[in-house]
Formats: sequence, structure tokens, C-alpha cells
Amino acid sequence: MQVKDFDIVILGGGPAGFSAAIYASRGAATTAIVDVNMLGGQPSNYLELENYPGFGKIGGFDMMEKFEEHADMFGVEKFPMQEIESIDLISNPKIIKTKEFEFRAKSIIVATGAKPMKLNVPGELEYVGRGVSYCAVCDGAFYKDKIVAVVGGGNSAVEEAMYLTKFASKVYLIHRRDELRADKIVQERAFKNDKLEFVYDSVVTEITGEDLVNCAIIKNVKTANVSELKIDGIFPYIGILPNVDYFNGQVAQDQKGFIITDETMKTSIEGVYAIGDVRNTPLRQVITAASDGAVGAVYAVRYVETLEEVRV
Ligand code: NAP
Repeated sequence: MQVKDFDIVILGGGPAGFSAAIYASRGAATTAIVDVNMLGGQPSNYLELENYPGFGKIGGFDMMEKFEEHADMFGVEKFPMQEIESIDLISNPKIIKTKEFEFRAKSIIVATGAKPMKLNVPGELEYVGRGVSYCAVCDGAFYKDKIVAVVGGGNSAVEEAMYLTKFASKVYLIHRRDELRADKIVQERAFKNDKLEFVYDSVVTEITGEDLVNCAIIKNVKTANVSELKIDGIFPYIGILPNVDYFNGQVAQDQKGFIITDETMKTSIEGVYAIGDVRNTPLRQVITAASDGAVGAVYAVRYVETLEEVRV
């Protein structure tokens, strides 16, 4: 196994991770990004963003390419598609073992982001890839002239439902309340879309089908009425959970598992910072992830400098 030593290793190559990488490397720290997937994080799957200042409208994938090119300018080393075996945040140096490498870092910045929450209903996992999808941008084109449902009432559900109307003949938006959570501007656009039908006060209790999904069983939470919705595909967009699989309770987390930080992004462990969607934060946007990255990296660099002062 090849040993790689860095001042700062950033776990996760999404907007938070790239922003941290830019700040850390410009702060003269040797910096690496390690990711279990391709680089780019969640926005790589967003159709487009229109709220990142200075960019107007930009595709999610294009934006993340720009983040990566920017990090490349400062010589950040990148290790995508790493199969992680263990992470020791407490030792000094901190150690991340993957199948190929042992990364040793004076400081670790956790930027592992979040993953879609599951509905946890019968049929959901069974039909993943056969009618159940968590990525409209990836799979929407398979549903040309078909009927699909999106579950959720937040920005993701409403935006992705609108995206799916480009392909599908009809899109049901199933929401558990009678008022959407999505931003008002997003709601207004959705209400004008003729292909969207809102199914309020309803939850999905089961997904059924044969080879492929053909039905969602839904229950009206006010009347307790149960009905069958004939669909060809279903896209749950009901929120996110943090990617914290390898930490085994080493770091303090909130009830849902999001990592708790202070305003400098410092976690409960000296030299470990958490940024972006994986941390306990009131707003999860590309801009807030990038902002977290800047703050976390500046304080991680300061931490590394204090270690060097101690050694002199
Ligand atoms: P979210 O804002 O947390 O919305 C989750 C939605 O799913 C809510 O409407 C919630 O209902 C519903 N829900 C939660 N658990 C459920 C369950 N078990 N069964 C049925 N419905 C359930 O999540 P999100 O839409 O994924 O967005 C996450 C963050 O990313 C947000 O901060 C959002 O603003 C941001 N985002 C921003 C953009 C953008 O600005 N372009 C795009 C996408 C996401 P209730 O409303 O009843 O709680």
C-alpha cells in the first residue's frame, strides 16, 4: 500500500471540498481531495443552478468542472473512486486507508455531503433501476411519454418534477401536506406547468409492479383513503441524510447524523473540520457549501501551522 502524506486531506470532492481545496492550497498547505465517487458531488446531477452569484444560469455539471479546474490551478492532488477501508480521525497524523493508499494528514476536512433519504416502503429498494430512481437528470429520458410520480414538496422535488415534464406525458407530485416547502418562485413556475398534477396530503405506502414499476399505493393522511396511482416510474425527493458511514461515532453528530461544528467548521475532534451538506447547517446550497469550505480550510491551515510551531 502506497503511503501519501499531506498537510490537509479533504474527504469529498463536491462544492465544499473544492472550495476548501482552493483555500487550503493557496494557504500553502499540501492538499489532497479523496472521494469514493467521481469528483463533482451532488450538483453534478443538478440540471441547472440559477442562484450562484455571478453565474446566472449554469448546468450543475459545468459548474463543478469549473470548481475542479480552479482547484487544479493550485496543484491540488485528486484521488477519486477510492474504496475506503478505514478512517482514523483521532490519531496524529490522521489516517485514511483505501484499497490503494494510506493517506496521512495533519488535518482532515470532511466534505462527504449527503445522500437521498429513502421512503422506506415495500417495493422501493426492490424496484431501484426498474422504475424507482433518485436522479431525474440521470434517468428522466427513459420516461418519454410515460407517467411518473415525484414524492416530496421541497425545492428538489418540485424542480425535478418540472424537469421530468420535459419527457413524461404526466408527472404527479405527491406531497404529505397541502402546502409546498419549495421556494415561492419555484412553486409559481410549477403551478403554471400543465403536465404537473399535485397530489396533496398523501404519502406513498407501497410501490408495486411486475418486471417494472406500474403502481404507487397512496394514502390520504387526512381521510385515510387508500388509492392506486398508475405510474411507470417514481422519484423520491424527500430530503437528504449525511454521508458519515466510515466515522463510527468518532465525531459528534446530531440526531440525524449531521456532524456538529462550531462557526470555524471545527468538529469535536482537534484538527478535524466538517463543511457543506454533511454538517449540521440551516441551509444546504452550493454557495453555503463553498462558503463553509473557505472557512474550514482557513482554520485547518491555521491548525496545521500551530502544529509546526509546536515542533520548532
Ligand atoms: P427538503 O427541503 O428537506 O424537503 C423535503 C421534502 O420532503 C419536504 O417537503 C418534506 O415534507 C418531504 N418529506 C420528508 N420526509 C418525508 C417522508 N418520509 N415522506 C414523504 N415526504 C417527506 O429537501 P430537498 O428538497 O432535497 O432540499 C434539500 C436542501 O437543498 C434544501 O435546503 C433546499 O432548499 C436545497 N435545494 C436547493 C435548490 C435550489 O436552490 N436550486 C435545489 C434543490 C435543493 P414537509 O414539507 O412536510 O416537511
